[in-house]
This record gives sequence, C-alpha cells and structure tokens, in this order.
Amino acid sequence: MDYKKLEKLLEENNQPAFRFKQITKSVFYDGVGSFDEITTISKDLRKMLSEELSSYPFTVKEVVVSGDKRAIKALFELSDGNVIESVLISPKPEVWSACISSQVGCAMACDFCATGKLGLGRDLISDEIVSQAVFWRGYLRENNIAGTYTNIVYMGMGEPFMNWEHVKESIEVLTDENLCNFPNRGLSVSTSGVVPGIEKFADTFGQINLAISLHFAFDEKRDKYMPVNKAYNLEKLKKSLQYYLSKNKRRLFIEYIMLDGINDSNEDAIALTKYLRLIGDKKLIIVNLIKYNSIDEGFVPSTAGSVQRFKELVKRGGIACTIRKSIGDDIHGACGQLAGKNKC
Ligand code: SF4
Repeated sequence: MDYKKLEKLLEENNQPAFRFKQITKSVFYDGVGSFDEITTISKDLRKMLSEELSSYPFTVKEVVVSGDKRAIKALFELSDGNVIESVLISPKPEVWSACISSQVGCAMACDFCATGKLGLGRDLISDEIVSQAVFWRGYLRENNIAGTYTNIVYMGMGEPFMNWEHVKESIEVLTDENLCNFPNRGLSVSTSGVVPGIEKFADTFGQINLAISLHFAFDEKRDKYMPVNKAYNLEKLKKSLQYYLSKNKRRLFIEYIMLDGINDSNEDAIALTKYLRLIGDKKLIIVNLIKYNSIDEGFVPSTAGSVQRFKELVKRGGIACTIRKSIGDDIHGACGQLAGKNKC
C-alpha cells in the first residue's frame, strides 16, 4: 500500500490522526488484502479507500504449496503486466521466512540462475517489494497457519544493490515500528557482489544482515559464471567486505552453490577458506553450502559426499560452515529457480 498516498487521502477527508495507524496496522501488520475487511472504519471510508488506493500493488495470480508443505510460492502480476515471485519457507517447524524479489528479472546473468536467464525487466518500487512480505502475513493469518514469521530475505528475483534507492526505502518501511514493524535483525539482503551497494549498505543499515552469493573463490571461474566479477573482482569484493565488517560487527553470510566438477574440489575449498580468512575476523563469517537446483542448463549438483568433504575442509580452515537443506525445489521455489512462471 502506498502509505504516503493514504496519509494524504485521510488528511483531505478530515479524518482523525489515529485513522492512519488503524489502517496501516490492518494492511501492513495483519496483511488484509482488501479495505472492505477493515470493519473498524466506516463503510464510506472503506469505499473511498478502495476507489483511490490498493492494499497490494499487484494481483495474486497463483499460490502453490510444496508437497511437504514447507514452501509456498506466490506469483504476483504487477499493474504493468510484469510478473514476480516470492516464496515463503519453513526452515524449521512453526518458523516462517519469506524470500522476496527486488526486480523483475535480473541483469546480472549468473549462469546457474533461472532469473538471470530472463534479463532485466525493471526495478521494483518500494511498495512492490514491501507488499510481498506483507502478503505472507495475510496468507498465514487467512489459512490459520501457526508459527512465527519474522525473517525476510532479499534473495528472490533481482540484484537488490542494482535497485538501491527502492530497496533502501523498502527496508525502512519494513522495519518502521509505525508501519510494518518487522525486526531489523530478521532482515537479510543478499548480493552477488555489487561493491558500491555493499559500501552504501554498510554505511546505512548496521542492524540488517548481509549475505554474499560468492560461489567461487577463483577469479577465472567467477568471471566465467558470474559476470559481476568482471566489474568487481574478488580483491575489490574483499575490500568492501572488510569495510562492512569494520563498520558492523555482525555475522557475514557466504552463500556457496555446489556445482559438480566446477567449484567443489579440495582446491576450491582451500581457496575459499584462505579468501575468507583474509576478509577479517573468521568468527563473524559463516559459509552456507547450497544444493544446486536444476534449471535444465547443464549444471549438475555436487554429490552428498562431495558437499560433506567440502564442508569438513572449510571447517578445518577455521570457518563455520553449514549445509543448507533445499526447500521448495518441487515447486521451483528454491534458490536460483525463480523465473516468473509456474512450472508445476
Ligand atoms: S543469482 Fe541473483 S544476481 Fe545472479 S542472476 Fe540470479 S537473481 Fe540475479
């Protein structure tokens, strides 16, 4: 919901000051999808708001639930006809975490990612980003799904730091205690390594988590599979992460997708460990090894044995390392699979 427009409309219609809080609470906190559901305000006001404003800046085209019910993917159609996706996952019982998109498609063209194959459609505005997170609050409430939902990850379609102004505004709205009131520490932004964005983020958001989609510890390989590395190579990325850690004593999450025969050798694990140790306090760094989710493009996921061996080598190098269980791959809602279409 465009809360600035709401503020203006209420003022023009001589509504008392508390009305703003009443409506934003219903939309942002309870996730109501229609003003008609807000029965604490008059019928006339509900009618006027419905004519002038929308609670969501998109229509919900489809919601698909995974077989194990631990992942739910929503397909949203924006007012210009573009589509985006968002996924709600349950990493453990009664805990929910939303993965939200920051752009329509993505220009970064990472070779192993379905979104990267789309190219960039356009940037999302703040309201379009915020409303994905808010939608899931309403979904959980309407479907009587129990659990806490406080984690939001900017890891859906798009590179958040290539849409800095809107992403910045969306974080401010999501964490504003008078608007969405999500806890700062529940938010994480994931980047493929856009150095100027990392530096701005370090200066602006000391309480929000940062994740780096690193995936390769050799420039030659990163250049080949992640074109962002040609602009911001591993050395430049390292300096920006040193800057981030000097400003924020927070944990830094390193995402590493495991690709058979490409980045899963002992040499890769040792290079990764060495690189991360150069960044700074190793106690602040944690590596998440991610299963590659097939997008039919010729990459093969590493075997379970290779992933375990890789993990042991990273840990032996003094860096914390976990294997992230893939959730939602049967609905193409897992990491790297969002392509703005339902393939089920
Ligand atoms: S992995 Fe992220 S940055 Fe790379 S193409 Fe996919 S969405 Fe874009």
